[in-house]
Amino acid sequence: MALDDLKDALRRNVNKIVNSIFIDKELIKETVKDIQRALLKADVDVSLVVELGRRIQKRALEERPKGIGEKEHVIKVLYEELVSILGKKKELPLKKYRIMLVGLYGQGKTTTAAKIAKYFKKKGLKVGLIQSDVYRPAAYDQLKQLSEKIGAIFYGDPKEKDPTKIVKRGLEELKDVDVIIVDTSGRHALEKDLIEEMKKIKNVLNPNEIWLVLDATIGQKAGEQAEAFHEAVGITGVIITKMDGTAKGGGALTAVAKTGAPIVFIGVGEKIDDLEHFDPDSFISRLLGMGDIKALIEKIQEAVPEKKAEDLAKKVLSGKITMDDVYEQLNAILNMGSLRRIMDLLPIGFGMPTLDKDALELTQEKLKKFKVIIDSMTKKERENPSIIRGTRITRIARGSGTTEEEVRELLKYYDQLKAIYKSFGRNRKLRRALMRQLKFS
Ligand code: GDP
Ligand code: MG
Repeated sequence: MALDDLKDALRRNVNKIVNSIFIDKELIKETVKDIQRALLKADVDVSLVVELGRRIQKRALEERPKGIGEKEHVIKVLYEELVSILGKKKELPLKKYRIMLVGLYGQGKTTTAAKIAKYFKKKGLKVGLIQSDVYRPAAYDQLKQLSEKIGAIFYGDPKEKDPTKIVKRGLEELKDVDVIIVDTSGRHALEKDLIEEMKKIKNVLNPNEIWLVLDATIGQKAGEQAEAFHEAVGITGVIITKMDGTAKGGGALTAVAKTGAPIVFIGVGEKIDDLEHFDPDSFISRLLGMGDIKALIEKIQEAVPEKKAEDLAKKVLSGKITMDDVYEQLNAILNMGSLRRIMDLLPIGFGMPTLDKDALELTQEKLKKFKVIIDSMTKKERENPSIIRGTRITRIARGSGTTEEEVRELLKYYDQLKAIYKSFGRNRKLRRALMRQLKFS
């Protein structure tokens, strides 16, 4: 997930607090210092880091916790103070939207337009994309192809040089669509003619939302950018992309939050599903390793069709899965991103299995291969994969036209999936939340 170094530092300190025999001033000071160092490394503004450290220390030492232990109190303070520097969550009600994306070259506008389209599509809304970038010849094809991939309606006109005309016609073409997302062209800097162009498009489109797309690698500078764009066209939110590829994401997030503009989404990878609706609460709980049942449930619900959700929940809770389940769930898992992303949503400790990181990534080709391999198994083997050893592996590989290594890879994948499911079943808190969500109790 994003901000790996900061995550490591926070988890290290949470563990230290959890495992300490008692909490004293020394321990709190040490913890605060270590976290401050990590925040600075993530490019968070120095004065903000100093102020945050002061507040955490003061509250941790002076407040008398009611009803919770001292350790829990310190972690709660840490959590609350970190959340407070990330601003408020922007709610996204399911309704008709006209969304305009703005931003400079290469920030991730076009990619993000498609990601947002997929996001709303998964929520059941009808989505359309309009390409109004008339400067970059490749922009038309880029968004058209992405639209086809996600099944969104697309409008663009590579011959038209006036973006407002494209938007006007696009609005007519996409009359029946719920969410219209308009991609616009960028510049190398916020120049006068870009401002003019944005204003003209805004007038024609009359958008509900204008979201600025910013690359996280610019760190703290994201704050100034957000302010400048706000002054120029009036933005209603910011999307911070490429959180996966930089240590500076902390600077970008906190600097934007400080301007008062809500962070709507964060981009966490190049794939269409690598987008998260930004929620300071769940973001920080995940960094801290406290697990984020809310986000996890959201993902499971998005990926698994309604009627299958109940079956899946039962399987999850019993920890018993067969190869047939694996087969059925391979698609769902792919929809959720990767197992690794799911693992990031789960709490650490509580007997969570440690998993081989590489084995958690599943590509489309591998998925197809796994299905062919499962097809070559006997019913007995599918129901009880632990019997698949030795000559059975050879036979399955030959029958499916794959290699023994690939069969073993699937078996390993099965074991990991099983371990994850088992831990769902063991973790009382997780189990209860899951049951509640799926209305089992
Ligand atoms: P635009 O010029 O603002 O439209 O930017 P593009 O959408 O064309 O993106 C520029 C590059 O950034 C592309 O190579 C994208 O794949 C990449 N990109 C966009 N968002 C993300 C992200 O969240 N993570 C990563 N790693 N790459 C991203
Ligand atoms: Mg573009």
